Amino acid sequence: MVQGTFMMHDFHYLGRELYCESVRVKDIAERVGTPFYLYSYKTFTEHVAKLQRAFKSVRPIICFSMKANSNLAVLRSLVKKGAGLDIVSGGELFRARKAGCPSSRIVYAGVGKTDREIEDAIRARILLFNVESVQELDRIERAAKRLKRKVNVSLRVNPDVDPGTHAHIATGKAESKFGLDVDTAHLIFMRRGHYPSLSICGVHVHIGSQIVRGEPFVRAFRKVLILLAHLEKEGHRIKYLNLGGGLGIIYSDERPQTADEFARQILPLFKGKKYRFIFEPGRFIAGNSGVFVTRILYIKRTKAKNFAIVDGGMNDLIRPALYGSFHDIWPLSQNGKAKKLKYDVVGPVCESGDFLAKGRFIQELNANDLIAFASAGAYGFSMSSNYNARPRAAEVLVRGSRFAVVRDRESYQVLVRGERIPKWVG
Ligand SMILES: *Cc1c(COP(=O)(O)O)cnc(C)c1O
Repeated sequence: MVQGTFMMHDFHYLGRELYCESVRVKDIAERVGTPFYLYSYKTFTEHVAKLQRAFKSVRPIICFSMKANSNLAVLRSLVKKGAGLDIVSGGELFRARKAGCPSSRIVYAGVGKTDREIEDAIRARILLFNVESVQELDRIERAAKRLKRKVNVSLRVNPDVDPGTHAHIATGKAESKFGLDVDTAHLIFMRRGHYPSLSICGVHVHIGSQIVRGEPFVRAFRKVLILLAHLEKEGHRIKYLNLGGGLGIIYSDERPQTADEFARQILPLFKGKKYRFIFEPGRFIAGNSGVFVTRILYIKRTKAKNFAIVDGGMNDLIRPALYGSFHDIWPLSQNGKAKKLKYDVVGPVCESGDFLAKGRFIQELNANDLIAFASAGAYGFSMSSNYNARPRAAEVLVRGSRFAVVRDRESYQVLVRGERIPKWVG
């Protein structure tokens, strides 16, 4: 694919130079060094606004799925625009609170919540636990009783639909570890008297990620509607309906539904229903709000290929290695020539899986050139690691003509923090 065929409005070329909002990306690279993640405040907040506008008739709570990007400055930007947060761990609860998210806008999913995580979330008075098993429900009941609190829970239903995405990001099929099947969920509602410390007041469904068509959502929500109809007939009061996340975005040539199209498909299904709607988009808000900027260390020409070896690797951006995913490549300075060469862009990590792009036609690249990987704002930094003892990259946030480092590049000292060598090792 030819570079730059799709660009977010807030990442654009002026002349031949790549800009994020009003800041030339090269200027940031010179100040901060490479590699780094670069985020646009405007794109982040506009994506929340788009969903709020599309669904304004039902005034949903938009809980950003913070596993996509959990930088405190990003979270605060979204929270200030009225977003809540969808968390999946005690660590994310800690971050959510550091970012100043009101606990009345925090929902908590995940199949493996520990006692400590459950207690912390109860003490924090989060809005809802999204419960994924009967055993978890029992644990939350016991914890609520210990802490003498009434706790809101919603049941995560697994509707057994195939979202048609990469197998690793499908979560709503019967064989997946997530959620409760519809019959078990129904049974729990019938036995809600067994849970005196809980208010079982919501239903949650999240079927997967990077879903570009409305149809799997509609199939899943129809199944949930059948359950809701039964529950209401039996007199159970459902206050919250959490429709999850999963909205797909453009990485290369996808044609995902817009927020408006999604609303037009979804809202008629729930016409006349008085639920408090919750959505948990992650990728939709964050994906195209960020890029990953690297510098070319070497151009290595072999008989088989041209390799561009960059200073960022799979430890920084693991999506290509993990899912074979595509990130468009934007040179920070275009050379203006029509000639394109074919490259594999790889990192310094000692793994054959350490590639960021394969077989890509790009302008001729040279050592020291800077290139950005597009659509890296979601599941980029948040999935990064220290593999190969590589300090994690810096994160930078741009707003208008201002920018700030919102997470320092890690130092070598950080790499060994908390480690010790016992005397008896010698
Ligand atoms: C990961 C996740 C999301 C967000 O998924 P996206 O595809 O990034 O929108 C929402 N809800 C739950 C429960 C999740 O685990």
